[in-house]
Amino acid sequence: MPDTTPLPLNFESQLVHAPGDHEPVYGGVVAALHLATTFEQETPGEPIRYDYSRGGNPTRQVVEDQIAALEGARFGYAFGSGMAAIAAVISLFEPGDEFIIPTNVYGGTFRILDRYFKRFGLNYRIIDVTDLDAVEAAFAASENIKAILFESPTNPLLTIVDIAALSVIAHKHGALAIVDNTFLTPYLQRPIELGADIVVHSATKYLAGHSDVFAGLVAIKDELLAKKLHFIQYSTGGILSPFDSYLLLRGMKTLAVRLERQSENALVLAQWLQEQPQIAKVYYPGLPNHPGHDIHRSQASAGGGLVSFDLVEGYEPTKLFSALKLIILAESLGAVESLICHPSSMTHASIPAPLRLEMGISPQLVRLSVGIEHIDDLSADLEQAFEAMGCMYSTY
Ligand code: PLP
Repeated sequence: MPDTTPLPLNFESQLVHAPGDHEPVYGGVVAALHLATTFEQETPGEPIRYDYSRGGNPTRQVVEDQIAALEGARFGYAFGSGMAAIAAVISLFEPGDEFIIPTNVYGGTFRILDRYFKRFGLNYRIIDVTDLDAVEAAFAASENIKAILFESPTNPLLTIVDIAALSVIAHKHGALAIVDNTFLTPYLQRPIELGADIVVHSATKYLAGHSDVFAGLVAIKDELLAKKLHFIQYSTGGILSPFDSYLLLRGMKTLAVRLERQSENALVLAQWLQEQPQIAKVYYPGLPNHPGHDIHRSQASAGGGLVSFDLVEGYEPTKLFSALKLIILAESLGAVESLICHPSSMTHASIPAPLRLEMGISPQLVRLSVGIEHIDDLSADLEQAFEAMGCMYSTY
């Protein structure tokens, strides 16, 4: 008898060999694309495994099992976008419940709490979650806080948040720690191993990786919460389509090699940007002078592919954008091509201007999502664009 015990795989190999991704009928080496919306039943109410694809679909199941495995969770759920995933997770809570969110959080997360869920009686408090005393004080001030919902690094200022410490505080007060792990993915950071309860992803970004799939994922440890989330997914129907599940699985196979290159490129560019006179501040957790560098190193294995920076007052971001020849001005991040954006007028425009400024998102802030291009080409593009921006007050 051949030994069929599975080998314990390293993360990179796990990415390539998702649980259940071998097509069983012909032995195809990739997951089969099951487009069926419904499945034949021999006896009413007794499907073989799936009955209707909103509730479960074999191709989506491979993605869901894969994200659970990669995040070290027990259950995974796939949605049509990161926001659909976040909306489903917020829907786990009851009217009157409050969330702690950080002073800079993805604009869409702020918007859905502020302008959508408030109507259903859910509230939020914006707290500087790098200040653990401030988090404790928030819990002391309200018994209704049921979750801390945060990112590390944050979008767009790449602030580092101590995932283990916040999880401990949340649990002490009977609340959940929910981490948006979009920026680093489980390849670089695994929040559940650090104590978090739920991980959410905009898989549109690094996990899919090619700017051609919208997807959201959730990974959960606790079975009861997972059952509640599946009920929400099934009832509200914001599922990931089979075809997008297939594309997402294909993208995830190369996650490790992409993120290696993106992190390497980003570190080189962050170091170069620091030396430019047109730049007031560089935000990159892989730099030793980043205030969260030590915490970041303790919970993540590289700096990731995002670098943000403030241009010195007087230099206009729009001039930089129009001078770039290779790096593309566009929303989103995490793809193979480098993208640059202006958070205050693009990704974070939905946050009211005074609050945006208070959060540190000034009109001088630029966010760069570093791709897998050759580093010399990226450096050359930035160098020529900085030169083309000209002298500070040339237009006055
Ligand atoms: N979370 C983070 C950190 C993001 O950057 C984004 C989108 O930019 C989202 C969630 C929302 O994801 P999606 O655009 O896939 O709905």
